[in-house]
Amino acid sequence: MRGLTFQGKQRLAVERLPDPRLEAPTDVIIKVETAGICGSDLHPYHEREAGLEHGTVMGHEVVGVVVEAGPGVRRLRAGQRVAVPFTTSCGWCYYCLTGLTCRCVHGQLFGWRQAGRGLQGLQAEYARIPLADATAMAVPEDIGLDEAVLLGDVLPTGLFCADLAECRPGGIYAVIGCGPIGLMAIAGALRGGADQVYALDSVPERLKLAARFGAVPLRAGEPETRSRIMDATTGRGVDAALECVGSPGAQSAAFDLVRPGGTLATVGVHTSAAFSFSPGAAYDKNLTYRVGRCPARAGMPRALEVVRSRRFPVAAAISHHLPLADGPRAYQLFDEKQDRCTKVVLTP
Ligand SMILES: [Zn+2]
Ligand SMILES: [Zn+2]
Repeated sequence: MRGLTFQGKQRLAVERLPDPRLEAPTDVIIKVETAGICGSDLHPYHEREAGLEHGTVMGHEVVGVVVEAGPGVRRLRAGQRVAVPFTTSCGWCYYCLTGLTCRCVHGQLFGWRQAGRGLQGLQAEYARIPLADATAMAVPEDIGLDEAVLLGDVLPTGLFCADLAECRPGGIYAVIGCGPIGLMAIAGALRGGADQVYALDSVPERLKLAARFGAVPLRAGEPETRSRIMDATTGRGVDAALECVGSPGAQSAAFDLVRPGGTLATVGVHTSAAFSFSPGAAYDKNLTYRVGRCPARAGMPRALEVVRSRRFPVAAAISHHLPLADGPRAYQLFDEKQDRCTKVVLTP
């Protein structure tokens, strides 16, 4: 098969690789239909997350059709379309049973191999899905491919950010960063009953999308943006800021907009070693800081509900469809935000 592999900093290649095979009775093999490129794929791409083994297949967002199921697989069968979250999960350990599937003791992250161990990614023609019964979710026929590819990460992660922020009726919120995850965080806040959601970004296309999702778009970093939010909250600041970027700049912007007693919720993958605000500043704000990887598998049924509600144009988060063979160019396009790129999906 062909797969898009990591070859070093900002170097990818479309390579011929052996087809994946069943390695455990609980595995399935899928034929990939669509694979997403995620903002967090850019961390290993730039080696901000170091140690990814050269030759590893990239990616952790996929929709595919089961072509082979191990003898221990009960809920899935060949021919079924499935969506897969970015980590595997067993379904029966403490963390799986309490809904924190992203911390499953048997879980592994797709697209991360180090020292000969770990899982291949999903930007390939075929992929092996371990612990398939608990990991994969069957995709109903009324869901399109562009919607289904968002079920395993983008949608649940954005909704999870709104959970962390405890968005509720009457609340006023700010979403920092209007990439695909930020858009879904807007959806989560509005579903929670938010009175107003302000969406901050510096890219005009992303702000237009944020408005389509129902937020008030504001240019990040402009003094008027801050004063607009302060005016709307009697000078207090927002009840919660939903930080969906993962950079020190986004973190300090979020901190600055939260009212005393409010919450800074983040699902951005941070790679810096320190907070951009001090423990003392957090104390002085009575800040609640909530953070973490989304338990995507646990959130997939609700993500499906959001798609089915047709309240938000979720598939509009995808700006580009490119063939897998153009993978290296697709990463560059996405990384440099060329051609108004917000998200790319690859088709084998
Ligand atoms: Zn992702
Ligand atoms: Zn588990």
